Order: sequence, then C-alpha cells, then structure tokens
Amino acid sequence: MSRVLHLRPQFVDLIPSQIDDGVIYVSIKYRTAAHNCCCGCGQKVVTPISPTDWQIGFDGVDVSVTPSVGNWSFACQSHYWIKRGDVHWSYKFSPEEIRRARDRDHRAAQNAASEVASRSEDERQEVRRRWPWTQRRAKRGEK
Ligand SMILES: [Zn+2]
Repeated sequence: MSRVLHLRPQFVDLIPSQIDDGVIYVSIKYRTAAHNCCCGCGQKVVTPISPTDWQIGFDGVDVSVTPSVGNWSFACQSHYWIKRGDVHWSYKFSPEEIRRARDRDHRAAQNAASEVASRSEDERQEVRRRWPWTQRRAKRGEK
C-alpha cells in the first residue's frame, strides 16, 4: 500500500466497477465522482456532486474537490483534500469531529439515496455499500 499523491481526472459517463489508483473518475451525467482511497487501502470512495455534497472544479488539467474527503467508515479513516489533483493530507479527526462529520455524511447519504433512482445499478450498489443504513430506507421507498 502506498499513498497516492496526485489524482488525474478521467471523465466518464459511468464510473467503472474496477477503478485504478491515482485516477479520479468524474461523471457529469450522473453527478458523481469516484476514486480509490488515497491511502492505498483500495476502498472505493464515491463523492456525489451537488450543492450539498461535493463540488468539483476543473482547471482544464486537474480537478479540485471540496469539501475535504473523510473516509470515516473505512478502517483507515483517511482525511484529505484534493486540490488541483494534489492530495493534501489532513490531520486525523478526533472521535467527536468524526461524529459530527458522520452527521454531515448521513445527510449527504440521504440526498444520495433520494437521487439513487436516477443512477446506474453500479452506483446504486456503491451508495448502499458506503452508506448501508440507506438501504432499509430505499427498500421502504421513503425519501
Ligand atoms: Zn484508505
């Protein structure tokens, strides 16, 4: 496992199920981006793009992602910023900060779940895997 220091963008319609380290896949069509966790753990990180989730900036060469990416649900609990493709590692959050970030993540998950019908099966699976608690909700057909 080695840390990824730079992500190059690849613009796609659908996020492939197998994705390479060091690449951030951006689907404008499905308003989603995905990359493998930059710590090298191999976990796929899906960042829905919306005003309340993540925003992607493209300068013609590289992409920036805001806000930061916090992989609280992974064993590595990685936390980093992606600025012009460069991965800037952030400090490790305290348990309290992780709790608060999870609350934000939970809201993002609800947004993702409510949009899930418009997404590909692959992305639906990703959303369920990353935010398993949305699955029950989705099954009941609630928003
Ligand atoms: Zn990781």
